[in-house]
Amino acid sequence: MTSTKDLKKSELQNGTVGTRENWLKVTSGLKCVKDGICTLTETVMAQFQQEIIRHINMSVVEACNNESCKRDCILNQGVGNFQCPNNVCDSFMKSITEVHMNKKMVSWKNCEVRCWPVKCWEIAKAYMPQNQSSANTGPATTDCSALLQLMWNCKKFRTELKITANPIRKV
Ligand SMILES: [Zn+2]
Repeated sequence: MTSTKDLKKSELQNGTVGTRENWLKVTSGLKCVKDGICTLTETVMAQFQQEIIRHINMSVVEACNNESCKRDCILNQGVGNFQCPNNVCDSFMKSITEVHMNKKMVSWKNCEVRCWPVKCWEIAKAYMPQNQSSANTGPATTDCSALLQLMWNCKKFRTELKITANPIRKV
C-alpha cells in the first residue's frame, strides 16, 4: 500500500505536487459557477415570461388551449404568418424573436409552444442549440454550453445585467 508520505514523494518526483488538491478546487469552483448560472438564467427567464404576460394582458395565465399551435406551424408558416387564435403563442413568439441576437437562428424546434405562459424554460430553449431533449426542463437538466449560449443569444441578459461591450473603458 502506498502511504501519503510516499505519494507526496512521488508527486514531488513527477512534478505533480498538489495536482489532486488543485483539481478538487477547480471542480468545486466549476460547481459554484454552474449553480450561479442556474439561478441567474432561471430568474431572468421567469422575469421575461412575466413581462410578456403583462404586455398581452393575460387575465388567466395558462397554457394555450389551441392544439394546432405547434412548433411545426411556426417553422412551416414562418414568424410573419403564424397566428394563434388566442393571441398568446404568437405574442410570445414575437417577444422571443425581438430579443434574440440573430432573429433567423431562433430554435423553435426546441419549444413546447403552448406552454410558454406557464413554463419559462420553454422560452429559454428558443435561445439554445437545436435539438434540446424534451427532458431539458430547467437549468439543472441543461448542459453548461447550452446555458452559456442562452445567455449570449438572449438580449435580456445584457439589459437585465447592464453588461456593456467594453466595461474597461468606464474605469
Ligand atoms: Zn396558441
